[in-house]
Amino acid sequence: MQHCNCRVDTGVDEVFSYLLPDSLLPVEPGQRLEVPFGKSNKLSTVFCIEITDAKSANVPYKLKHVKKIVDSVPLLDQRLLKLGKWISEYYICPLGEVLSSMLPAAVKKNTGTKSLKSAFINSQTDIETIRGKKQKQIIETLLQLKAFDAETAVETEKLLEQSGATMAPLKKLLHAGIVKLTSRTVYSDLPLIPDGMVLKTKNVILNDDQKKALSEIESRIESQKFSVVLLHGVTDSGKTEVYIKSIEKAIASGKSAIVLLPEIALTAQTIQRFSSRFENLAVMHSQLTASQRNAQWQKIKSASPIVVIGARSAVFAPVSKLGIIVVDEEHEPSYKQDTAPRYNGRDVAVKLAQMTDAVCILGSATPSLETLNNCATKSHFVKLSLPNRVMNLPKPQMKVVDMTLSRGERGSFHILSQELENAIRNTIKRKEQVILMLNRRGYSNFIFCPSCRYSLKCRNCDVTLTFHKSEKHQHQPNLKNRIAGGFAVCHYCLSQTLVPQKCPVCGGNVSMIGLGTQRLEDELKQKIPDVRVVRVDSDSMQKHDYYHLLKNFDAGQIDILAGTQILAKGLHFPNVTLVGIISADTSLQLPDFRANERTYQLICQVSGRAGRSSKGGTVFIQTFMPQQPAIKYAVEDNFQGFVDEELKHRQMCLLPPFGRLAIIRIRDTKFDRLTSAAQKIAEQISGIISSCKFNIKMNGPADAAIARIQRYHRKQIILQTRNPVQLSELLSRFRKLKPPSSLVQIQVDVDPVNLL
Ligand code: ADP
Ligand code: ZN
Repeated sequence: MQHCNCRVDTGVDEVFSYLLPDSLLPVEPGQRLEVPFGKSNKLSTVFCIEITDAKSANVPYKLKHVKKIVDSVPLLDQRLLKLGKWISEYYICPLGEVLSSMLPAAVKKNTGTKSLKSAFINSQTDIETIRGKKQKQIIETLLQLKAFDAETAVETEKLLEQSGATMAPLKKLLHAGIVKLTSRTVYSDLPLIPDGMVLKTKNVILNDDQKKALSEIESRIESQKFSVVLLHGVTDSGKTEVYIKSIEKAIASGKSAIVLLPEIALTAQTIQRFSSRFENLAVMHSQLTASQRNAQWQKIKSASPIVVIGARSAVFAPVSKLGIIVVDEEHEPSYKQDTAPRYNGRDVAVKLAQMTDAVCILGSATPSLETLNNCATKSHFVKLSLPNRVMNLPKPQMKVVDMTLSRGERGSFHILSQELENAIRNTIKRKEQVILMLNRRGYSNFIFCPSCRYSLKCRNCDVTLTFHKSEKHQHQPNLKNRIAGGFAVCHYCLSQTLVPQKCPVCGGNVSMIGLGTQRLEDELKQKIPDVRVVRVDSDSMQKHDYYHLLKNFDAGQIDILAGTQILAKGLHFPNVTLVGIISADTSLQLPDFRANERTYQLICQVSGRAGRSSKGGTVFIQTFMPQQPAIKYAVEDNFQGFVDEELKHRQMCLLPPFGRLAIIRIRDTKFDRLTSAAQKIAEQISGIISSCKFNIKMNGPADAAIARIQRYHRKQIILQTRNPVQLSELLSRFRKLKPPSSLVQIQVDVDPVNLL
């Protein structure tokens, strides 16, 4: 009898021990087992994480027995188990929950597999004794195909077709033991790219900067030691080409590669580009069906070396020998998962490279301040630059429009400044195209009474509602005292409501203020009649429509794309010579210390959509704060200037990269219960800080920036320190304490990317 330690795959933060009957052996860590769990002995799935001899395990109480083995082989190998343990400790999340989230649901359920049966001749049989004609035909076919054992067996479907027989004679042969069957599991196929769409391999000759970067990376791959390379280069500087050549090097030495991209950059174009260069490729992203996902995962597990390309969770791809892991657009906040385990895919990639002596490449045009700081202070980080665009295209011309002046001159409210409006007209006259970006959906984000200053708020959340125009609401009869043609929606809980014409407080007329993509579309159509404009945001687009739309835009059937941040990434249209950022201030107003950094990144990214041909390009940036450093430096294309300025503030306020942060978020529908629990948690934390003499600053408990979402009141405690070891120790001690209330929900977010 053996003894095993297990972790439940839900949010229970404890180790459970069971006895493993000999009849179930052998079992390895990483396999899932079915066990009776809790008082009711409900059958539950657990991950086996450790096996010991039952005699040596000194347990004072009687153990239950494991009932069943779920997986015939471990789904998680030693490397992934170790990575899971690190995530569980670093991000303060129960190990079972971490391990479970490392596996796609389709893999756990083994979706889409079928068992394929094949037949062969059982050699001990005397063939002369066979009677039936059809049975003879089956045997003849098997002889012809030389199917003499399990290795050479023929698929039954093929066998029946070739021999012209049906199942009945085959069954007779099986029954008599003359023919035997063997079965194997097959997975659903993934036609990665439609035939005919695969790009021809283009042999690119690297420029000097690329060559320098590549040779540095290659020597690191050869050394088989852990290191991290930051590849800092503007869009089109040829970073992806360097990734591809580096991966070729790793593959040639028999090692696999993982490439992480933000979900929205995982387009057919990107996948094509990699699939045209690598024979053995697997993809993991949200567009796959469950069966395809399982099939891709199984392919990664069985084929080596392989290139895996995917979003955040592809960092958990079960490759056997990892040589290189690439994180493109490493600064992207979407690498952080916003549900438990709250890991950052980029940081896990670095950790994984460290555990496996692999090379990690982080690529970006605007690297995060954390990564820049690591390059400056850590010996295994190195920064390489690709300063120029490959084609040496002229940089777009940047123009700032001060909206305070613009508004003053014109009196009434306009989304488009006169300057931008003129530029749009001229561009269209020249038969060139325009991209306009406004990072806010809907028509207006305030429904407001000018006389008493009442604004329409969500019933469930502490936010104002956004007005959305809608065709459906245009033709509603009997709309008494309600504004026709649209509805108000909460962007947090998605609840909808019709809008009263009169203010419920004072009875005055309500008005719509603030910007939204729908309003931008309206204003464009009004000001420039006959303009062919299409709005692009998550309200107007299904993914399928979006590809169709981009095709039409490419063919010149549309003049202007006006939409949200979706438009900021990756689009390559040589005829776009004008880009307008309608409100650079939108992202600056976020109550988050990274607002400046995000604004700089966004301006830099959107600008990259202009001037992608010899025609050049112009970028208009509308702002009320032209002197704001993020905007000023972005206009000058002075990344280093921005970084230096921003670092001064971060240092002064002990913010990343100088300080480490963790947030404890606490929420409850009952405000009093929340307040008292938050207070007790703060006491627990400060108790640990003072007894351990930790140098950690505790802020709060305070209301979260949005104090209520979906009827939950929200409070938070922010921890700040220069000492990550102490922070980690503090959180692991806090984790072991009994929560002050079992009803209040508590989340710990280590290295948060947003403070909302
Ligand atoms: P990034 O990833 O930095 O945006 P890419 O690697 O995608 O840059 O390169 C941009 C474009 O230039 C791609 O179409 C790529 O095929 C091409 N390209 C990259 N390097 C070279 C090169 N050395 N010579 C010619 N074309 C190149
Ligand atoms: Zn709401």
